[in-house]
Amino acid sequence: MKNDYLLLTPGPLSTSQSVRQAMLKDWCTWDDQYNKEIVDVIRHKLVKLATTHDNYTCVLMQGSGTASVEATIGSALGPQDKLLVIDNGAYGARIGQIAQYLKINYVTLQHKETQTVDLQQFEAMLNRDTSITHVAMVHCETTTGMLNPLQQFCEIAKKHNKIVIVDAMSSFGGIVMDIGELEIDFMISSANKCIQGVPGFGFIIAKKSAMQACKDQARSLTLDLYAQWQCMQENHGKWRFTSPTHTVRAFYQALLELAQEGGIIQRQNRYQTNQQRLVKGMRELGFETLLNDALHSPIITSFYSPRASDYQFKRFYEQLKETGFVIYPGKVSDADCFRIGNIGEVYPDDITRLLSAIKKVMYWEKAQCA
Ligand SMILES: *Cc1c(COP(=O)(O)O)cnc(C)c1O
Repeated sequence: MKNDYLLLTPGPLSTSQSVRQAMLKDWCTWDDQYNKEIVDVIRHKLVKLATTHDNYTCVLMQGSGTASVEATIGSALGPQDKLLVIDNGAYGARIGQIAQYLKINYVTLQHKETQTVDLQQFEAMLNRDTSITHVAMVHCETTTGMLNPLQQFCEIAKKHNKIVIVDAMSSFGGIVMDIGELEIDFMISSANKCIQGVPGFGFIIAKKSAMQACKDQARSLTLDLYAQWQCMQENHGKWRFTSPTHTVRAFYQALLELAQEGGIIQRQNRYQTNQQRLVKGMRELGFETLLNDALHSPIITSFYSPRASDYQFKRFYEQLKETGFVIYPGKVSDADCFRIGNIGEVYPDDITRLLSAIKKVMYWEKAQCA
């Protein structure tokens, strides 16, 4: 089965045919062939991808990526704890929203979506409010495509002995990092982003000691991070409740393909080549990026919409879709944008084909941009 179009989105994204084919078998959820040979192997491989340190462990969690963020926030903070959330986009804001729903004490360091993290203010807040115990930041803010300053953030947080939670949903597997070197306590990502699996579950890679400390703290039964981890530890990869077997098997295949590509370094190179080719070509067509190049991740790029008065995203989208490409609407509150993702089973040649398609659509539209 071939896809009708290439997804140039932040996830779910285009997957390989072999990843999709891996879903054609059914699995028994208490059989060793599933738990020991697939789930436990995945957990082990994820830790190896995340760090060279051996004090980390991994737990998988059903649901979309947000469920894993909610499980982490809801389990890592005790009743006396307080969270500081860095907010420079929709996903940072969502962490604050989770804390609010769960009635967790929190403060946010608010920025505009186009603004990079104010590290001085971050440290000033930690100095001012010593009741803060945990800090959370999104690594790649998928709202804009901005890459937040992970290393400096972790250094400041650790200098002040805070528990560090990082939403690396859209960057893990596509950007090289060692979470042990960074001393991150909880790193969250999901199946359908840079590992290039299909949607259905997320995962948390955490310090074993940080995971232990979550015992009896969860505010939800299904999203109890510690209980899920305990079950997987004690029963060799068994999930507490029905696991998304087909998705998990596809993810296992996606991990093999990541290794075949040459690991995270090579995948980052490919994404970076995609992104640079895209930006160069789009600028040649007269488009402008929302962010300066220095702030950019290789994951997804926001472009200002053409200025033509009759431009409509929906029509632009539909015309591009007819040529075999699907792009994404903007998510920035004070600028009219659209987004193009570079992640997934997408290669530099696809970007070249996309650029000619956009050129054609622009011609049809007779849209004057920039
Ligand atoms: C995709 C993404 C999520 C999770 O989104 P879901 O729709 O719940 O899968 C969270 N944070 C970031 C930065 C993301 O890119």
